[in-house]
Amino acid sequence: AMRHLPYFCRGEVVKGFGRGSKELGIPTANFSEEVVESFPSDISTGIYYGWACVGNGDVHKMVLSIGWNPFYKNIKKSVETHIIHTYKEDFYGEILSIVITGYIRPEKNFDSLDALISAIQEDIEEAKRQLDLPEHLKLKEDNFFHLPAGKIGNHH
Ligand code: ADP
Ligand code: MG
Repeated sequence: AMRHLPYFCRGEVVKGFGRGSKELGIPTANFSEEVVESFPSDISTGIYYGWACVGNGDVHKMVLSIGWNPFYKNIKKSVETHIIHTYKEDFYGEILSIVITGYIRPEKNFDSLDALISAIQEDIEEAKRQLDLPEHLKLKEDNFFHLPAGKIGNHH
């Protein structure tokens, strides 16, 4: 799962398929199918962490899931970023830039919504701790997050 890391990516935030992440208090900004297709095809599904910024806003900690997309009958992946920051408004249509720096765990099925939510809360705490370590913290300052507006595309 770590072979492709750190992984830099940017793209437009699109509407997801209404899993109700926001209602759980954990909104996830979804990348378009094109961006997802640009990921290495052998990247493991599961939960990752790293840094994210919306437009040319501040860089924040994030947790990210790479999963199977139910909208495409689980034959395509989805990539969803939960930024660990409270935004005043939605940012559909904006450019999200991320660097994925570490892996937490594989995808899991949960017996209850409560079990799912508490697993995600643990993922968030784990991400916060890991991202304070020098090897992950240094990527917050990467030039990738300070490119001039209009330079859209993948880093690699
Ligand atoms: P969708 O199914 O459309 O992805 P979600 O319930 O997952 O809906 O909500 C995602 C949207 O919430 C994002 O596209 C973004 O516009 C907004 N949003 C607000 N705060 C955050 C945040 N901290 N992290 C991610 N998305 C956020
Ligand atoms: Mg979402």
